[in-house]
Amino acid sequence: MTTAGKVIKCKAAVLWEQKKPFSIEEVEVAPPKAKEVRIKILATGICRTDDHVVEGMWPSKFPVIVGHEAVGIVESIGEGVTTVKPGDKVIPLFLPQCRECKYCRNPDGNLCIMTDLKADGVMSDGTSRFTCKGETIYHFMNISTFTEYTVASEFAVAKIDDAAPSEKICLLGCAFSTGYGAAVKTGKVTPGSTCAVFGLGGVGLSVIMGCKLAGASRIIGIDLNKGKFEKAMAVGATECISPKDFTKPISEVLSEMTGDSVDYTFEVIGHLETMIDAIESCNKNYGTCVLVGIPPSGKKLSCDPMLLLFGRTLKGCIFGGCKSRDVVPKLATDFLAKKFDLDQLITHVLPFKNIQEGFELLNSGKRCLFFVALLLLLFFWWSYLFSTSYF
Ligand code: NAD
Ligand code: ZN
Repeated sequence: MTTAGKVIKCKAAVLWEQKKPFSIEEVEVAPPKAKEVRIKILATGICRTDDHVVEGMWPSKFPVIVGHEAVGIVESIGEGVTTVKPGDKVIPLFLPQCRECKYCRNPDGNLCIMTDLKADGVMSDGTSRFTCKGETIYHFMNISTFTEYTVASEFAVAKIDDAAPSEKICLLGCAFSTGYGAAVKTGKVTPGSTCAVFGLGGVGLSVIMGCKLAGASRIIGIDLNKGKFEKAMAVGATECISPKDFTKPISEVLSEMTGDSVDYTFEVIGHLETMIDAIESCNKNYGTCVLVGIPPSGKKLSCDPMLLLFGRTLKGCIFGGCKSRDVVPKLATDFLAKKFDLDQLITHVLPFKNIQEGFELLNSGKRCLFFVALLLLLFFWWSYLFSTSYF
């Protein structure tokens, strides 16, 4: 029996309030309106940005369904949708690409005007597609993926190759594309260059992979948690250091290690102090520092302008500076062609109902992924879902 045009009742992880646990609820998901698609989510990852909403460091209306790194199947489409059809495998995009606005038409722009930068939590007609217990539930970045079904704009959906494995490819929805783009598109890392990456979470590891793909000869990973070093080395870091092992500033440590300083630095933590460290650590004349980590909402960065006066470049990027609908399908094809691997970015695979445990693991330094819908191989998958380090 088709569900197209009908309200779907399904499970979703609702955040009723800031700093409170997720609550698995039955929600109603309205059919897609014009130029929208409704998606059955298959798998979704947790990114630190989701935790920023829980902790109140990223603005959001409540109650909300967060999550923004997923893969799914189009269940139904609204009027006027031409680029995807029911049954297509898609990645929802927190950064849409309408291909018409000024930003989309600029070759260097990727901040499409349809992006929910003000955290309104509603679709373009000013309303939400989610309700629960008679109450409106807000969207997160217009894609909300911690739910069995979601609605997104056609412009916020990338069709990918059906053969791409759901349990890995969902990482193109945020971590991998962000990190890879930060190195290749925003930083424009050059072959033979030296890079330092501050923060070795899922996004930082992806920056390392991007630096390696760009041909960097030396990639130094930096993290307080030495447990992250093994994976960093496995994805391409040539060495790793912990600031805890030094009393001098990390810029001096890097300068001694490299004989001068590194060409590119990436801040992938979201702390003001490490942002300053990253700026100070790249070459003072021609170095480039790329800010990727999201700082606490409303905080100001203060630094000596002399840091930039000699020629350093300070940049930042959202989604790695990538034009989402153009880049994500290509990355999925590259993944299938084995140009890069995503295994090292996943530490745990859990059933969706264990989402709270996933956030606890994130806060203990792990990155999790959830199977939201179990396809045909129900028994097979369940045997994996409970193995804590399947990848
Ligand atoms: P994560 O929490 O998994 O990783 C952060 C890492 O930083 C951890 O390994 C932690 O041990 C390390 N760390 C913390 N404090 C440190 C310090 N003082 N010195 C050195 N290391 C330290 O996070 P993630 O999911 O990889 O995301 C990283 C950041 O990127 C977050 O701020 C997230 O919000 C942001 N982000 C930005 C974009 C974007 O488009 N710009 C997209 C996704 C995520
Ligand atoms: Zn993210």
